[in-house]
Amino acid sequence: MKIAVLPGDGIGPEIVAQAVKVLKALSSDGLKVEMEEAPIGGAGYDAAGDPLPEATLKLAREADAVLLGAVGGPRYDTLDRPLRPERGLLRIRKELNLFANLRPALMYAELASASTLKPEVVSGLDIMIVRELTGDIYFGQPRGIETRGGERVGFNTMVYSESEVRRVAEVAFGIAMKRNRKLCSVEKANVLECSELWKEVVIEVSKKYPEVELSHMYVDNAAMQLVRNPKQFDVIVTGNIFGDILSDEASMLTGSIGMLPSASLDQNNKGMYEPIHGSAPDIAGKDVANPLATILSVSMMLRYTFNQEAAAKRIESAVEKVLAQGCRTADIYTEGTRKVSCSGMGDAVVAAL
Ligand code: NAD
Repeated sequence: MKIAVLPGDGIGPEIVAQAVKVLKALSSDGLKVEMEEAPIGGAGYDAAGDPLPEATLKLAREADAVLLGAVGGPRYDTLDRPLRPERGLLRIRKELNLFANLRPALMYAELASASTLKPEVVSGLDIMIVRELTGDIYFGQPRGIETRGGERVGFNTMVYSESEVRRVAEVAFGIAMKRNRKLCSVEKANVLECSELWKEVVIEVSKKYPEVELSHMYVDNAAMQLVRNPKQFDVIVTGNIFGDILSDEASMLTGSIGMLPSASLDQNNKGMYEPIHGSAPDIAGKDVANPLATILSVSMMLRYTFNQEAAAKRIESAVEKVLAQGCRTADIYTEGTRKVSCSGMGDAVVAAL
C-alpha cells in the first residue's frame, strides 16, 4: 500500500502525525504500508512557489492513496488566487479525477450530548453521503456576470451527463451493498430537467443492484428530514451543490467538526482521504487539535481503497475505546472527562489498537 502523505498547513502536520502513528502501529502488525511525505497548500508555496508542486502531484499520482491534513492560513490570503493554498486542493482533486466524495456522519454514543439535537434523535446515527464532486452548477458552462438590458445579470449552468451520473451512482450502490443496502437519491426533479435525468439514470443503474432498496427525495424535503428523523437514512447520493449543503448539515448532527473524516474516490477506488475541517490556524502549533477525523480518514482509506475491512474496523473500535475511556481533546471536552493533547490522543488510539 503506497500512501502519499500531504500534511499541508496549520494543524495539518500535527493531526497527520497522529494518523501516521496509527498506520505505523498497523504496519508493525503485518500491514504492508509505504509512506512518503510531500508539501501541499501554503507549505507547497513556501517550498516550491506552487500550492501543488509538480513533485507532490507526481507522488500523489504514483501512490495508491493520498492522506491529506488541511491547507490554508492567513499568511497566504493575500497571494494571487492561483497561488493560494485552496487552489492546490482543487487542482489535486481534479488532476486525480476524484469524482465521488464520501462524507459519513457517525454519532459516537459518548458524544451524543455534543449535538444540538435531542440525543434520542441522533444516538446511533450512521449516514453516508455520496456527493458528486466534479460536475454540476459549480463547473457548468456558460457562467458569468454580464450586462443585459441595462442591468447586471449573474448566471451559472446546472449540467450533468448520463455518464457522470452513472459513475457516481455505481459508487453509491457499491457502498450501500457494504452497509445496510438502502440508498436515497436526492434531487429536485419536480422543477429541474437536470434532476429529471439524474433520477432516470439512477433508476437504470439500480437494475444492477436488486438487493439495494432505492428511494428518491427532493432536496428541500431531504434537508428537513435530516433534522427531523436522520436515522431513516443509510446512504444518500446526490449532485455537487445539493451534496455540498446536505453534507455540512449532516456533519453538524454529530456535534464536532474534529471527528469527521472524508474520502474522494476515482473510478478505480484510488482515493484522497482527509478530515472535513480546515487548517484551524487559531489553534495551530499548540498540540490541542483533535486528530480523530484524520485517524478515521485512515480507516476509510483501508476500507475503500485497500479493501482491508478488518484493519478499518480495528481503528474504529480503538477510537470508540478511547472515547469510552473518557479521553477528550479540548473541542469535545466536557466535565467529568479527561482532557488530552493532540499527540496524547494519537498515543491513546495506538495503545487501544
Ligand atoms: P476550520 O475548519 O479550519 O476551523 C473552524 C473552527 O473549528 C476553528 O475554531 C478551529 O479551531 C476548529 N477546528 C477545526 N478543526 C479542528 C480540530 N481538528 N480540532 C479542534 N478544533 C478544530 O475552518 P476556517 O477557520 O473557516 O478555515 C481556516 C483555514 O482552513 C482557511 O485558510 C480555510 O481556507 C482553510 N480550509 C481548508 C480546508 C481543507 O483543507 N480541506 C477546509 C476548510 C477550510
